[in-house]
Amino acid sequence: MLNRPIVSLKNVHKIFKVKSADVHIIKGVSLDIFKGEFVGLVGPSGSGKSTLLNMILGLEEITSGEVELLGQPVKPEFADRVSEIRRRKIGIIYQQPIWIRSLTVLENVAFPLLLEGFNRKVALREATEALATTGMLKWKKYYPQDLSVGQQQRVALARALVNNPDIIFADEPTGNLDIRNSEALVKMLHNLTKENKTVVMITHNLDNLDDVDRIVQLVDGQIVDDIKVSDLNVEQLTDEHLAKIFFENEKKFKRKTEELSIPTTSEKSKQNINLVRSLKNFFSSNLNFILSLTSILMGIFLSYLFTILVQLKLIFKKNDLSFSDEEKRLSNKNPLAFLFHPRGSIDGITYKQLLSISIKNLLGKKLRTSVTVGGISLGIAFTVLLVSLGFGIERLVISNIASLNQIKQIDIYPSVNTQLELTLEDLETLKQVEQIETYYPIISLASKVRYLGSDVDVVGYGVTDEYLQNSDLNVVRGSFFKNSPNSIILNKSLLDIIDPNNTLNIGDEVELSVRSTADLNTDIISDYEKFVVSGIILDTENPIVYLPIENFQKLGISNFTEARISVYSEDDVENVRTLIESKGYATRSVLDTINEIRSIFNTSRIVLGGVGIVGLIIAAFGMFNTLTVSLLERTREVALMKAIGMLPPEVRALFFTESVTMGVMGGVLGLFLSYFAGFLVSLLYSFLSTSEGSFNFTDLTYTPLFFVILILLGSAIIGILTGIYPSKRAEKISSVYALRYE
Ligand code: ADP
Ligand code: MG
Repeated sequence: MLNRPIVSLKNVHKIFKVKSADVHIIKGVSLDIFKGEFVGLVGPSGSGKSTLLNMILGLEEITSGEVELLGQPVKPEFADRVSEIRRRKIGIIYQQPIWIRSLTVLENVAFPLLLEGFNRKVALREATEALATTGMLKWKKYYPQDLSVGQQQRVALARALVNNPDIIFADEPTGNLDIRNSEALVKMLHNLTKENKTVVMITHNLDNLDDVDRIVQLVDGQIVDDIKVSDLNVEQLTDEHLAKIFFENEKKFKRKTEELSIPTTSEKSKQNINLVRSLKNFFSSNLNFILSLTSILMGIFLSYLFTILVQLKLIFKKNDLSFSDEEKRLSNKNPLAFLFHPRGSIDGITYKQLLSISIKNLLGKKLRTSVTVGGISLGIAFTVLLVSLGFGIERLVISNIASLNQIKQIDIYPSVNTQLELTLEDLETLKQVEQIETYYPIISLASKVRYLGSDVDVVGYGVTDEYLQNSDLNVVRGSFFKNSPNSIILNKSLLDIIDPNNTLNIGDEVELSVRSTADLNTDIISDYEKFVVSGIILDTENPIVYLPIENFQKLGISNFTEARISVYSEDDVENVRTLIESKGYATRSVLDTINEIRSIFNTSRIVLGGVGIVGLIIAAFGMFNTLTVSLLERTREVALMKAIGMLPPEVRALFFTESVTMGVMGGVLGLFLSYFAGFLVSLLYSFLSTSEGSFNFTDLTYTPLFFVILILLGSAIIGILTGIYPSKRAEKISSVYALRYE
C-alpha cells in the first residue's frame, strides 16, 4: 500500500458557530487512508466522528485544513465535482437507513444509478445484482420501511454498492442491529475489501473490530490512536487498546440479544393492496375511469413539458459539471440532453425517472394528493364553467340575432341628405377592395299587391336569388325564385291580410304594381303585372315582397336603393365599413347589435372569471401547503438523495415535477369536470325549454380553444409558482440531515 492515499486529511479543523459562540469540534486531524483498507473509526459519542466523515464527503464545510477525496480537493467551489464523486465512487450507509418511501426496495437500490442517468432497465438489473450480494433479493418488491432493521441495513448496503464504489463509508452501521445481524453486516463489509474496495466504518461496537485492518481513535476532535491490526495480535488489541477505546461507553457494548424479527407483510402494504383493489372496482365500470385516466395521461405529458421549460433557463447557466475531460468525452454530450435531463448532460437522472418518482410520491399520499388536486380542479372547473357559460349564452343570443353569414354582411345605402347615388359601377369599384367577397344589389320600391280583389301596400324588394340565399330568411313554404323572372316571395304578414282563409298555394298568382312617388326622384307607377308565388317567409312584421330585380330594372331604374356587401371575415367588417363611409355612404350591420351584447357579456365574464380566480388562489394555497408539508416530511429523504450525489437542479426538478404535475392534473381534471357540469346544466336547460314533445339539446356552454390553453398554462403556472418555494427549500436542505440519527 505504497500508493497515494485515496482519502487524505491535513490538519483539518471544524468550528461550529452556536449562538455566536464558537465550538471547536475537530482539532487538527491529519489522516491518510489507502486503497483496500478496512478502517475502523472509533471514539466516544460526540467526539466528532460523523462531523469528520461529513467533511470528507463534502457535506459539511471545512473550517480549515485540506481534504482530498479520490484525488479531488474537497472545497465548496468544487461542490458539483464532489457530488459527482459521491454519486459514482462512494457508497454510504447510515446507522438508520433513510428511504425514498414511495419506492420499493429494488427501486431504492436502483436510485443512485438513475441519478447517474442509467436507463431504468439497466439500473434495475444492477440493483437486482446488488441485492443478491447482500442476500436481500427476495424482498425486492417490499417497501423498505416495512422490513426489519437488520434487513433494511442489508438493503442499505446493497444501495451503497450498486454503483460499484471505490470507497464505502459506514457511520455506525450496526448501531441499531442485534449481534447476529451486526456480525453478518461487518463480514460483508470485510469481504468488500478483498475486492480491493476501501471501507471506512465508524463504530461503537467492540465486536465489529474483529475484521478491521486499522483502528483510528478519535477523542474530543483529535486522533489519539492510529494502529494497524496486523501489527498487533488479537490479545493485545483487546486488552490494551479496546479497553481504552471504549472506556466511556461500556454499557453500549452489552450484546443485544433480540432475535432477528421475521418481516411480515405489514399493515401498510395490506392497506395498499386493499386500496388498489377498491380503486379498481370503483373505476371498472365508470365514466370517472376514462376521465381520470385521460386527465392523468395528459397531466403527465404536460407536466413533463412544463418542467422542462421551467428548467431550461437554469440549465443554460450550468455546464461545467463534468468530472474530467476523459469522462466528459465518455459522458457523450448530447446537444438534446437538456430535453431529458435536468442537469443538461446525459450522465444525469432523466425527467422520466423524476416524473415516475414524483408520481409514486403523489400516489403514496393518495388522500392528500386527491384533496389537493381535487381542490385545484374544483377551482378550475368552477372558473371554466362560469366563463364557458358566459361564452355559450353569448353565442346562443347572438345566433338568435344573426347567422355567421349575416355577421359578415354590411348594408350600404346613400345617406339621406346627399345627392350620392349607388350604381353598378360604384359597386364594381368597391368590389376591388380585397376584403370584399361579393355584393348583392337591392332596389326597394313602394308597391301594391292585389289578390282576390284586395289591394295591400307593401315594400317591394328587387333582389337576386343569391341575396336571398345569403340572407337566412325563414322560409315556411315553397322556395326562392329558381331563375323564374316572374316569381314573387310573400311574407307571412302580407299573407295574413290578403289570404285570411289560407287558400293561397305555392304556384298561385298575385298581381303587383309599383307605386313609387318619392323614391329615387322618379315617379313610377306601373301597371299590375302577374307574379307566381314561389315561397312564403316568416320575416318582418310589415308586409313585404321579394321579386327578381330585373322586374324593377326594366322600369328604367338603374340606381340601387341599397346593396348588401359580404366580406370574407368578420374581422374585416369594421375596416370595410370605415372605408365605405369615407365615400359618403351610410352603412348598417348586425355587428352593431352584437357588439353591444358582447360588451355586456365581456363584463360579466370578467366578473365571473374573477370569482373563479379567487377560488383558484385559495386552491393554490392548499397546494402550496401540501407541498411544504410534504417537503418537511421528506427532509431526510432529500438529504439522502443529495448525500448520494443528486445535484441541486435535480432536487429542484423533482419538486417542480411534483408541483407542476399536481397543478396540471388539477387543470386537466378541472376542464373535464367543467365539461361534465356544463353538459348537465345544458341538459337541464334543454329539458326546461322543451315545450312541444320534440326534445332539442342546446349546448349552453362554449369553451374556446384559447381558453382551454389558457387554463392549462394557468394550472401549470400555479404548479410552478407553488413549487418555487418548496423546491428552493428542498434544494437547500443540507445533506448532513441524512447522517443525524434521531
Ligand atoms: P460523533 O459522530 O462522534 O458522535 P458528531 O460528529 O456527530 O459526533 O458531533 C460532534 C460534536 O459536534 C457534538 O458535540 C455535536 O453536538 C456537535 N455538532 C455536530 N453538528 C453540529 C452543528 N451543525 N452545529 C453545532 N454543533 C454540532
Ligand atoms: Mg455520529
